[in-house]
Amino acid sequence: MADIMLITGGSRGIGAATALLAASRGYTVAVSYLRDEGAAARVVDEIRAHGGAALAIAADVSREEDVVRLFQTVDRDLGPIAALVNNAGVLDRQARLEDMTAARVERILSTNVVGSFLCAREAVRRMSTLRGGRGGAIVNVSSRASQLGSPGEYIDYAASKAAVDTLTIGLAKEVAAEGIRVNAVRPGIIATDIHASGGDPGRVERLQASLPLGRAGSPEEVARAILWLASSESSYCTGSLLDVAGGR
Ligand code: NAP
Repeated sequence: MADIMLITGGSRGIGAATALLAASRGYTVAVSYLRDEGAAARVVDEIRAHGGAALAIAADVSREEDVVRLFQTVDRDLGPIAALVNNAGVLDRQARLEDMTAARVERILSTNVVGSFLCAREAVRRMSTLRGGRGGAIVNVSSRASQLGSPGEYIDYAASKAAVDTLTIGLAKEVAAEGIRVNAVRPGIIATDIHASGGDPGRVERLQASLPLGRAGSPEEVARAILWLASSESSYCTGSLLDVAGGR
């Protein structure tokens, strides 16, 4: 039976690339999304067109009841998950901290941090050998921003990713003896829609020449690192934070 991988925010960008690569490597794939049903359906259609198995589920990772329903749907329709990719993440329009509202900061933290915690919780409840599970792998999608701080752009987002780094380190140790590895990737500047949501659609184009590798990364390049961390190829990695950032 194929291993099952759940990718949150798998409808676009890095999540969609991860879903397509996972399916090509033989995983049965579940993708969650927030609003863009058409984009999620296109990912599922492409996987099925190549003979793979996939399912799209609408679920807001910042809402506990949605996360519980998401995992119950995967249990019911596909089976027990072997891998979780905590990919869903958001940023807001570029701003200085002095102009940030509480509502904005709470939205960023509730999706990027609370969402990652809730999905990790549901995954551990299913994977832990102490609870009768078969173990598994969790890959969190952090960001180089966790180290760089994103001044003048989105310190809230950068801080949320620092929390994801710490979640990775702590949870890796907490569940290491229960058959679960927990790692993270920290992408640099990757060409996806997320930059437009920051109000700066030209960000990738503008900054890429200044990067050590001289270009932005593609979602597929991040997906390959995620798939490696989810696979037994990385069997001695846990609590690792892998920069996929072209030297940034
Ligand atoms: P993206 O193209 O904007 O896609 C974001 C995905 O997350 C979409 O599938 C979206 O669903 C989903 N999503 C957003 N809020 C959600 C919520 N509350 N619940 C469930 N799903 C939600 O973003 P991306 O660039 O691929 O980013 C993916 C991850 O990589 C994020 O965690 C981001 O912080 C991280 N990252 C990105 C970069 C970069 O340069 N692109 C760099 C470092 C880290 P809908 O399609 O329904 O909106």
